[in-house]
Amino acid sequence: MMQLKNYIDGAFAAPSNGRYLDNYEPATGKVYSLIPDSDATDVARAVAAAKRAFPEWSGLTAAERSKHLMRIANRIEERLEELAAAESRDNGKPYKLACTVDIPRARDNFAFYATAILHDASEAHDMGAQGFNYTLRRPIGVAACISPWNLPLYLFSWKIAPALAAGNTVVAKPSEVTPYTAYLLSEIVHEVGLPAGVLNIVHGTGPGVGEPLVIHPDVPLISFTGGTATGARINTLAAPSFKKLSLELGGKNPNVIFADCDFEAMLRSTLLSSFSNQGQICLCGSRILVERPIYDRFVAEFSQRVAALRVGLPQDPDTQIGAVVSASHRDKIMSYIELAQQEGGRIECGGHRVTLDSAPDGYYIAPTVITGLTMDCRTNQEEIFGPVVTVMAFDTESEALELANATRYGLAATVWTSDLKRAHRVAHEIDAGIVWINSWLVRDLRTPFGGVKQSGIGREGGFEALRFFTEPKNIFVKL
Ligand code: NAD
Repeated sequence: MMQLKNYIDGAFAAPSNGRYLDNYEPATGKVYSLIPDSDATDVARAVAAAKRAFPEWSGLTAAERSKHLMRIANRIEERLEELAAAESRDNGKPYKLACTVDIPRARDNFAFYATAILHDASEAHDMGAQGFNYTLRRPIGVAACISPWNLPLYLFSWKIAPALAAGNTVVAKPSEVTPYTAYLLSEIVHEVGLPAGVLNIVHGTGPGVGEPLVIHPDVPLISFTGGTATGARINTLAAPSFKKLSLELGGKNPNVIFADCDFEAMLRSTLLSSFSNQGQICLCGSRILVERPIYDRFVAEFSQRVAALRVGLPQDPDTQIGAVVSASHRDKIMSYIELAQQEGGRIECGGHRVTLDSAPDGYYIAPTVITGLTMDCRTNQEEIFGPVVTVMAFDTESEALELANATRYGLAATVWTSDLKRAHRVAHEIDAGIVWINSWLVRDLRTPFGGVKQSGIGREGGFEALRFFTEPKNIFVKL
């Protein structure tokens, strides 16, 4: 069986304790590879290697670092189909999605920061006769990059690329649930000759690898994407040593739909925002709020289209809904569907597991639409992170806002209306780091990305990420 390896100090390495974890294929429910179950010893080796590599890497010119990153981007592009197949197999997402979204975006992350760093500059603050004042932005040292399983290489590279571009060295930990493309990335950086120790990839669990990395005294900054509870734990662990933190956490995003919207465009987009990647995107809208005059029509037509979505094998080109990522995640999602019914919810469609003849042990769930719940119930307050949405009616703009803002999360939102003034008004008032008007998930890598409230601290994307991965130093000289 394929055995993945860590990548430390420019070499592939087995975990020092010799232990491995099973890696399951969500489509079939079968184990298909083994992942290093690394521990603090491997983390210490990786941090030491990154620390040794830092002076030389941070001393390169931006143009030199840019060339290294561009080589990685190009190699991802050359291996796109292989990487997409690996991502789909590891995660359960449709191959088509991995091929058109995940892997191209991983390539773009490296290419974007390879070029962004060429346009980054220090600031000068002219003080006239008094003197000259300028601010340098310096790389910090060894950055920890910890990422989740839902968009594995996409989010892994979204952290690693700016960290390296800014001149830091990196110890990165992918999710133990989806380690495969991170392993292939280590092959790629090896192939393109990234200097040893600049990027180290250590596989394993949160407690086994994540925590030793977070508390390591030679790791001054941590970029984390994952669940809110894990973010809170990392925040607590990092606090005593005042590490710099960027936390991209969970969401419970509202779609606010007014009666005057373009109904057909809204319906098509809402299908995607609800169920893309089996609803396992932090930006998916899981609470659909619909203005009363179109509520009944929305529930009827939406449910009809949701019921027609094809659940199937990830590699099948006709599949729209693949497998959810793991048996435990499937069980968690199913428990929320049960809870929703106990809370008085009505299942408009879906609500059950799907058994495929060709893969009876795979983790499939029919996309599910639930109505009849109030906003304060657990189903509407807790992140389910699966193919499950709720629909509620509202009567006024202020009620829509009240419902939209009635959770502890604040990551993303969508607003559907033909009234331009209202679109902006509502977008301004929604508690969210990102609002899409009459659209969903249109991304521009230059823009700040992140959440408010318990959806996170800090922003990634564009120059925001380069700011996070550098420390400003202000210098004044008297003339
Ligand atoms: P998770 O928090 O369980 O795990 C994320 C990563 O953290 C994994 O690599 C895991 O091994 C590691 N980890 C776990 N415990 C740790 C600890 N104590 N110390 C250090 N590291 C630890 O999240 P998940 O289940 O992999 O991903 C789903 C979550 O990620 C959802 O809540 C989703 O909303 C969120 N997410 C957020 C964004 C965003 O940009 N805001 C993007 C994608 C996913």
